[in-house]
Amino acid sequence: MEPITEEDLRASFVNCSRGEAKRLGLPRGFTDLPWDDLDFLGWRDPGAPARAYLVAERDGSLVGIALRVTSGASRAFTSRSMCSLCLTTHTSGGVALMTARRTGEAGRQGNTVGQYMCADLACSLYTRGKRQAAGGAAVEESLTLEEKVARTRANLRSFLAKVPG
Ligand SMILES: [Zn+2]
Repeated sequence: MEPITEEDLRASFVNCSRGEAKRLGLPRGFTDLPWDDLDFLGWRDPGAPARAYLVAERDGSLVGIALRVTSGASRAFTSRSMCSLCLTTHTSGGVALMTARRTGEAGRQGNTVGQYMCADLACSLYTRGKRQAAGGAAVEESLTLEEKVARTRANLRSFLAKVPG
């Protein structure tokens, strides 16, 4: 994605208050991120670990989604879980349930959408092999890098499409 400014980032949020968007903690190293390798910008709030954010380009504009991180989900039946965006398999803790409040009337009624995602929201880097899942199985896929990137982006788009109420 193209580099974005702090101002654009804070103005992009659609499902939280202006106050929250104004106060949220920026990603570490915000001025020096590997933008070329990012399909979207995702991060955990450095000052509030239960909050995460995702900013992506959609139809030519930026869409920011505020997420609540639900960790410690009971997943005793399996020691591994998979991110629904980049399909990276992690050992427990590497994937978290991220919940977004929907916008509009649905949001006012308290509706949310949740998906399991990489707990560090670094899906773009896992997709490109620039970050490895700790203890994750190196599943060999026959897809090319371009195909993997396209898949991650398609999964992201379908998540973003669920947020508007
Ligand atoms: Zn992921």
